[in-house]
Amino acid sequence: MKKPVICVAGSANMDLVTTVQRMPMAGETIHGNAFQTYFGGKGANQAVMAAKLGGEVWMIAKIGEDTFGKDYMKNFTACGLNTSCVYTTKEASTGIAAITVQENGQNAIIVVGGANLSFSEEEIEKAAAAIGKADVLVCQNEINLNATLRFLQIARMYGVPTIFNPAPAEDFPDEIYRLCDYFCPNESEAAHIVGFPVKTIEDVKRAGKDFLSRGVKNVIITLGSKGSLLMSEGKTVLVETEKVTAVDTTGAGDAFIGTVAYFIASGIPVEEAMKKASHAAALSVQKRGAQKSFPNYAECGF
Ligand code: ADP
Repeated sequence: MKKPVICVAGSANMDLVTTVQRMPMAGETIHGNAFQTYFGGKGANQAVMAAKLGGEVWMIAKIGEDTFGKDYMKNFTACGLNTSCVYTTKEASTGIAAITVQENGQNAIIVVGGANLSFSEEEIEKAAAAIGKADVLVCQNEINLNATLRFLQIARMYGVPTIFNPAPAEDFPDEIYRLCDYFCPNESEAAHIVGFPVKTIEDVKRAGKDFLSRGVKNVIITLGSKGSLLMSEGKTVLVETEKVTAVDTTGAGDAFIGTVAYFIASGIPVEEAMKKASHAAALSVQKRGAQKSFPNYAECGF
């Protein structure tokens, strides 16, 4: 069987995680308890998930010519991603997320997009050939929006199906919606865009209708432990997830989208892809971390 080809155009961030007893006040220095770095960024996370399932994954990303960038390139290679569209720059640092976690679980996060936000016209056009050969293109909102818009336009031009994870959410230009074959927010992203709370299943359906009216072909709203909802013209399907004991839900959405992308690229019906994605995400929440908590194909038992 031919390997599904997944192209992911998105972010690569180094997550810098410090655990503390309490947050420092302005002007104060305190001792932290522990420090760890993790490979993150929604784009890279989703790409790694699709690769763990056995997909041929082309990463379109931009990193700094610094230590984090060098480490990230090694991680991409170790995960088996095609890196011919991973660009580097001296002008900006590799993206980082400085995360401080208090003992009571509360956290404070500063994200510096850095190189992620600096895709040039030339780099975007250089990636067009890779997009044109893919079975699916996956984008999020952690790189410059004009680049995301262009990548989606290129995919449409080649007739390549698109998955857009509007995270973080903002008010997107109208054209973005019309370029989405699959629009995949979580509940809070959906609420931010539609401008009303998305809490009950009725709210979720109302938000889904709103996105369809904007020109999206299919909407997949992820609902945490409540599962996910698919909406397309004349069709609404709730896909339940498994009851598990979650120890860390970081990256659950990325495990879900990376898996949905792999199976949509394989050509199976979207509801089936969502069931498999729920299973992979349910496995990932039972382990700590993002990329390192993602199961491979055998571990999923598919
Ligand atoms: P995000 O991480 O973007 O907030 P969600 O929390 O909606 O995304 O999670 C994405 C998917 O992962 C859900 O639709 C569900 O299938 C699965 N999932 C998330 N949390 C759990 C959980 N606690 N138990 C089982 N499955 C989960």
